[in-house]
Amino acid sequence: MTVTSLVTGGSGFIGSHLCEYLLGKGENVIAVDNLGSGRLENIGGVMGNDRFRFIRHDIREPLQIDGKIDFVYNLASRASPVDFFTQAEEILMTNSLGTYNMIQLALEKKARFLEASTSESYGDPTISPQPETYWGNVNPIGPRGCYDEAKRFSEALTMAFVRYHGLDGRIIRIFNTYGPRMRPDDGRVVPNFTMQALAGEPMTVYGEGSQTRSFCYVSDLVRGIYLAMNRDVRGEVINLGNPTEMTVLEFAKKIKAITGSSSEIVFRPLPENDPMQRRPDIGKAKRLLGWEPEVGLDEGLQLTIEWFRQSLNCPKPA
Ligand code: NAD
Ligand code: UDP
Repeated sequence: MTVTSLVTGGSGFIGSHLCEYLLGKGENVIAVDNLGSGRLENIGGVMGNDRFRFIRHDIREPLQIDGKIDFVYNLASRASPVDFFTQAEEILMTNSLGTYNMIQLALEKKARFLEASTSESYGDPTISPQPETYWGNVNPIGPRGCYDEAKRFSEALTMAFVRYHGLDGRIIRIFNTYGPRMRPDDGRVVPNFTMQALAGEPMTVYGEGSQTRSFCYVSDLVRGIYLAMNRDVRGEVINLGNPTEMTVLEFAKKIKAITGSSSEIVFRPLPENDPMQRRPDIGKAKRLLGWEPEVGLDEGLQLTIEWFRQSLNCPKPA
């Protein structure tokens, strides 16, 4: 019988790629999204597929749905630091009450459950790379607290239901992921630098740009998410990300070079509590899932920049 997967956040950046991937595996896919930061055009390519269904719904409300569901992928949540200032309460409630509602749905349907958590669970880490055993360094009352603590709560909630209510749940901690369909005005570093470089505007490096990040291409991530759901890893938390680490300043220079832009690099104040280093330890993902990223940064950025260029109708530099 055909597998049916439900993907919350299914019209968002990662969620829409996951829906396509699952359809490609022959599954029936139900995307659930409130279209807060997601866009219908992200799923435009699969809307006509008779194995795909879109439900506009806010997961802060319980979801009643007929028919069998085998897998619940819980990806719904705004994730951009820009949204932390205006949507803090929505983020907190989506990852707490929303996650609770989706766990209830999974239990009712006897479905497997996957919670999409984040490297932000580690906050501003004091060790690097970050293994899953690290408990993190998070300021709960700082401007990022609404996201970091919401995700940490979602992890605790998932584990409580795994331990005491028989949930077949697993948690992934996603590290910075990029690719086509990121919102141009999302405020995260990849769309910011790319849009600025393509427009020939100043590229805004925050602080001195000495903070580090490790960027994973979306197709690698989606393959990892699929494996985490389809392997027997009940109760496990697994990092998914690309361990290639670089400073934000190096990253700006790389995007400037790939786009062939003449933009100048300018420095702006570092946001409060901005993590100074981030790099996943993916030993556990390799061991339990046989997963590691395959797309290098240059290749992934070329694909991403080309997508931005085309969707914005930007000419290539001469
Ligand atoms: P996104 O904003 O593109 O996608 C999130 C989707 O969730 C959007 O379509 C949005 O409309 C939907 N959503 C938000 N709140 C909702 C609610 N209450 N009810 C229903 N739908 C709701 O962001 P993304 O980058 O694709 O992130 C997807 C998931 O991955 C999020 O849970 C995020 O925290 C996690 N994550 C992403 C990254 C990354 O680098 N992109 C890193 C770590 C974790
Ligand atoms: N950043 C930057 N300029 C920008 C946007 C972001 O220098 O225009 C930095 C930001 O301060 C952080 C890193 O890039 O150190 C990654 O930011 P992003 O918002 O993409 O994700 P985060 O890892 O902070 O959640």
